[in-house]
Amino acid sequence: MGTRPLLNRRLAGMGTTIFAEMSALAVATGSVNLGQGFPDTDGPREIAQAAADAVLSGKGNQYPPGPGIPELRTAIAEHQQRFYGLSYDPDTEVLVTAGATEALAAALLALLEPGDEVIAFEPFYDSYAACIAMAGAVRVPLTLRQPTFRPDLDELRSLITPRTRLLLINTPHNPTGLVLDPSELAAIAELAVEHDLLVITDEVYEHLVFSGTHHPLAALPGMHERTVSISSAGKTFSFTGWKVGWVTASPALVSAVRTAKQYLTYVSAGPFQYAVAEALRLPDDYFDTFRADLLRKRDLLADGLSAAGFRVFNPEGTYFITTDITPLGEKDGIEFCRALPERCGVVAIPNAVFYDDSEAGRSLVRFTFCKKDEVLAEAVSRLRRL
Ligand code: PMP
Ligand code: GLN
Repeated sequence: MGTRPLLNRRLAGMGTTIFAEMSALAVATGSVNLGQGFPDTDGPREIAQAAADAVLSGKGNQYPPGPGIPELRTAIAEHQQRFYGLSYDPDTEVLVTAGATEALAAALLALLEPGDEVIAFEPFYDSYAACIAMAGAVRVPLTLRQPTFRPDLDELRSLITPRTRLLLINTPHNPTGLVLDPSELAAIAELAVEHDLLVITDEVYEHLVFSGTHHPLAALPGMHERTVSISSAGKTFSFTGWKVGWVTASPALVSAVRTAKQYLTYVSAGPFQYAVAEALRLPDDYFDTFRADLLRKRDLLADGLSAAGFRVFNPEGTYFITTDITPLGEKDGIEFCRALPERCGVVAIPNAVFYDDSEAGRSLVRFTFCKKDEVLAEAVSRLRRL
């Protein structure tokens, strides 16, 4: 095969995702897995039943319509209206995707030219860097720094150049738990309008906000026509394996994203789309209970990690806690996470892998709390051995 590397230049250096590596390590070592963010309890029984019924009654077993089944597109539009007062036309302004991951990929592939610059908060969710690279674009990180991880908006302004095409925002933010507040969102929106930038906003943790409330960027003045909003059923309804996500945006943006999407998966998850349409219409009680339950788990894990000697940055949202391992006499999160299963039977994620400036995240380690109380308690008791 000659000497030319098989993996192309755009993807060079991007090996196995940290989530796959760490989940495999958890299985191999019998560790408690607080690494990859997936709940160990499935979502509502009646929603699982709706998926089973769809399969058995022949709904969605053949290719669903390219943009998603009308029932789900309508339910997504109703959800945006119900929670945020945002109006989207289910026929022209909603697109169903294979999870938020495909929505992000399709949006970046559709909207970027090679050489375009994309400003994103780092640490960034791992698929951002890969998809920006696959689009041939250039990522420009705005580093979120401890202890607050709040973005420096003057620095954001200073990063904008004539080549900047797009801002890639994530709120609530994985892995720091930062939730952008109304003044930060307003400043970001003003910059986007002033410099005529597109915005992709990843809001998959929209229903997991513990302090304040989630505010969609698309609601701000001038943002409707330039914002691609992305969310997913995985986090909100605890069915991460179903991979049902969606985009809401103006007709022109949805049309662009759909063009790329139709050549990625074309369509996916037919029967699950029917079930997610029902899930989005669950009463407020479901969303309130889900959040309250996770808030309790957050506090359980945060207290346990503090007691074990970690410096804890309490998240305002998401189901992740970022910690600093320096008080434990440790410096390097990657080494720490590779050794942790052997040392005490727990798996976590080193935040450094989400940074270009790996020094900024070197001593930071992420734990998820979307696990049963007894699993969290067991993890905490193991970590106290450190
Ligand atoms: N964005 C963020 C910030 C995430 O944490 C995740 C995964 N949990 C995704 C996107 C991907 O979501 P999905 O599983 O729906 O593809
Ligand atoms: N989003 C999940 C996390 O941050 C992982 C999803 C994946 O494995 N791609 O843990």
